[in-house]
Amino acid sequence: MIPSESIPEKIWHGTAVSSGVAHAVAHVLKDHFDEPEETPIAAEDVEKELERWHAALEITRHEIEAVQKVMENEQGSSEADIFEAHLLLLHDNSILKQVEKTVREKLICVDAAYYRLMCKHMDALRGLADSYLRERFLDIKDVTHRVMRHLRGEMLQHPMFDDPVIIIAHDLTPSDTVQLDRSKVLGFALETGSANSHAAIIARSLGLPAVVRLHNICEELHSGDPVLLDGEEGLLLLNPSEETLEGYRSREAQSDAREDALQLTRHQPSVTLDGCVIKVSANAEFIEEMDAIRDSGAEHVGLFRTEFLHLEDPEGTEDWLAECYTQAVKAMNPGEVIFRTLDIGGDKVDPLAAGETEPNPFLGWRGIRVSLGKQDLFRKQLRALLRAASQGRVGIMFPMVCGVEEVRAARALLDSCASELLAEGYTIPDEIQIGAMIEIPSAALTADLIATEVDFLSLGTNDLTQYTLAVDRLNERVADLYQPTHPSVLRLIQMTVDAARRAGIRVCICGEMASDIDLIPLLIGLGLNELSVASGQVARLKHAVRKLNAHECQTLADEIMKLGSGPEILEKSRSYALKIYPELFE
Ligand code: PEP
Ligand code: MG
Repeated sequence: MIPSESIPEKIWHGTAVSSGVAHAVAHVLKDHFDEPEETPIAAEDVEKELERWHAALEITRHEIEAVQKVMENEQGSSEADIFEAHLLLLHDNSILKQVEKTVREKLICVDAAYYRLMCKHMDALRGLADSYLRERFLDIKDVTHRVMRHLRGEMLQHPMFDDPVIIIAHDLTPSDTVQLDRSKVLGFALETGSANSHAAIIARSLGLPAVVRLHNICEELHSGDPVLLDGEEGLLLLNPSEETLEGYRSREAQSDAREDALQLTRHQPSVTLDGCVIKVSANAEFIEEMDAIRDSGAEHVGLFRTEFLHLEDPEGTEDWLAECYTQAVKAMNPGEVIFRTLDIGGDKVDPLAAGETEPNPFLGWRGIRVSLGKQDLFRKQLRALLRAASQGRVGIMFPMVCGVEEVRAARALLDSCASELLAEGYTIPDEIQIGAMIEIPSAALTADLIATEVDFLSLGTNDLTQYTLAVDRLNERVADLYQPTHPSVLRLIQMTVDAARRAGIRVCICGEMASDIDLIPLLIGLGLNELSVASGQVARLKHAVRKLNAHECQTLADEIMKLGSGPEILEKSRSYALKIYPELFE
């Protein structure tokens, strides 16, 4: 790393969304391209330059055709036509000729020649009221974007770093995240984002610091700059001085000592003072996390978000998936792994499956809706999960269900996959547990009906909060309104727990709310006895549980349910938690 002695330190203030501190070089990911410079080229390099351009056009063609093929396979999809238009644009004769002419005559790089020409076409259409022409503008922009990225070799796909890096980006989608070489990533510093985005959830899962809302960092930082990311205070420091680093080193030593003390008891059972067993499981996104999960003190995985494996290879075979799921199941043996079937859509976009951009992705084609709409994809996953179930304890749950019909439809497909596999000679254990996520208010309101169809319910409070309060979980502007402790959310949780108890089935909570030590007394008081949390929080939570009395928690919850606002409720639960386990707040 460059010695920082003579270069002044610079600090950006943002919002901390995942704790920890990292010191490394920056790796800046740009999601837009600056206007290319008009670099002159030698006359003898013209052919090489044009070859480079044709190669970029060729990769773009393959990319568009692949998306188009997926669209065509989908019944009733009209989106395939859009890609036909993109292919025509890509091979438009007049564009091809003009770019070649400019490169030959002006002796400038093809990036500049192509980009300028496409911008001219876009400018002619920009801001027109006619919806047809507006669409053409978007088509040109889309194709130009793809070609430019290939020309620059800038596709995000699998960037590899030699040394550990801190990722600096405007935004980081879950599909970007899965394509990074995560073994070298020490933290995420983003210009936008929120605590409930999947990038933040992943950072917490991987135990990496993350800070969002760091304005203008992509403009001001360059790959290779030495930076320090502080996921406690929400800071990013460029060229941290030796004095600053020393301060961080001693802070780290203190927090390591506290953490070590906590970790000593992580494998001990989590039972409240009055004997109530609270199952603390871990959430997982990647197979590579399994060792860390085993080591965290969690005996089970309460939520395995399968969409990240899917995004790593959307066309992966059933055999590959079965192998990956089996690895996870074996790693947790004899514990249970609850796999959630694909929840793509929302912020987890699979470009091959999604097709056209949706105006409101969180209210659109997401979760079980995609699975029931793309049954080949769903069947592949269900078969792979059933095959993995012969290797250990498997639970399967369906995300984003809004009522009992979707649960029935999903179960019917699961049954048909099971019959198929049996006929093919596979063995399928009887004890697979089937569940439904309760993360849409309509599902919570009909939890009693859903409970008759499943073995367990799992509360996804990240989405339940966003859908109940009509607050986009990614939108920082309304982040103050995103209150998991709002009385409406708590009432829906209560209804779900009551419905599960009446039906005699299990109920767990796997949203981020369960990882919040402020809220554990309240959740236990509401009757929850299965919590699934980021693996880094397991030891802390088990410690908290051992200090609590479930009976007292219930009295607290009864009082809390009479309160009128989210902040009031949070405050009451937090001050109770602070009284019971102050050491966790140090
Ligand atoms: C949730 O919504 O609470 C949940 C666990 O699912 P995700 O965060 O993946 O949407
Ligand atoms: Mg969810």
